[in-house]
Amino acid sequence: MTDVAYELARCAVCGSAEAGELLSPDDAKAEIEMVWAHHSRRLREGVPTEHLMDRVAFSQRAPLRLVRCRECGLVYRNPVERPAELAAIYEEERPADDVLRALHATQRPAYRAQAARLTDVFGRRGTGIEVGSYVGGFLAAARDAGWQFAGVDVNTETNAFTRSLGFQVDDGTIESLDPARRVDVVAIWNCLDQLADPASAVRAARSHLATGGMLAVRVPNGACYAAFHSLLHGPLAAIAREWLAQNNLLGFPYRFGFTPASLARLLERNGMHVERVVGDVLVPIADRWTKRWAALEERLIKRVIGLGAAISPADKPLAPWIELYGRVG
Ligand SMILES: [Zn+2]
Repeated sequence: MTDVAYELARCAVCGSAEAGELLSPDDAKAEIEMVWAHHSRRLREGVPTEHLMDRVAFSQRAPLRLVRCRECGLVYRNPVERPAELAAIYEEERPADDVLRALHATQRPAYRAQAARLTDVFGRRGTGIEVGSYVGGFLAAARDAGWQFAGVDVNTETNAFTRSLGFQVDDGTIESLDPARRVDVVAIWNCLDQLADPASAVRAARSHLATGGMLAVRVPNGACYAAFHSLLHGPLAAIAREWLAQNNLLGFPYRFGFTPASLARLLERNGMHVERVVGDVLVPIADRWTKRWAALEERLIKRVIGLGAAISPADKPLAPWIELYGRVG
């Protein structure tokens, strides 16, 4: 384990230092224990540690403390890991090939919804860059839907795996790509919330788009986390715990909790206008290591939460995950 250094942060969207504490270090510990209890009840005996990866989110450490920006509503860690240490956390991961194949097989069908929505909102198919392409689940779903997407990711090990599936993937970040490259769409699914500097990533994404181009972003909803976190110790505790745990929001294992308003603000500042906001649930995570009742429970609960997300008002407090589609010009 890398020794992680911390520093005090300001809001990454609006720059304000005015923030209220949302999750204290003690609350964070209690929520992480709830996450462990939730998953250990639902997994079969003898589950390999690697398979816990995307559930208990080993790759993202528990927040020391979360705050919420009083100006724009962004939820963020404060203090925060320094960027150099964060890069080391992600680059040192080396899952085995059968784990990557299993992840790809689980994620590919789940990404069909994003590929279909993208075609619908953008109005046609075209070229794209996916930031954080990981095991190629979206690249494959997009190709199936008629798009030509290439990936970029900091993890050279998973990139080698994804290239072996026939995709173009650059090692690095959106900031390190050839500045002259232009595409129709830049997609950042489940990744902007984990970056050290999301504002810089959005700026770089914009620089690869011409007028009419689109940035598509999917993030965990900080507004939903804040709303249900506040219910964890009252009469609605069991519902709040399921709402968060089934969507990997319990313990908030992300660096940033964008809200529809704070993310829109970031896109607008970079010359884009938001054409659509979608509320959604986490992709299905049940696999052969999940007990049967738990897989059924997950399907049922996500259907209920999905309905809640769909009828949620514009600021989507009921939607655990949100997607924003921003157009240039
Ligand atoms: Zn702010």
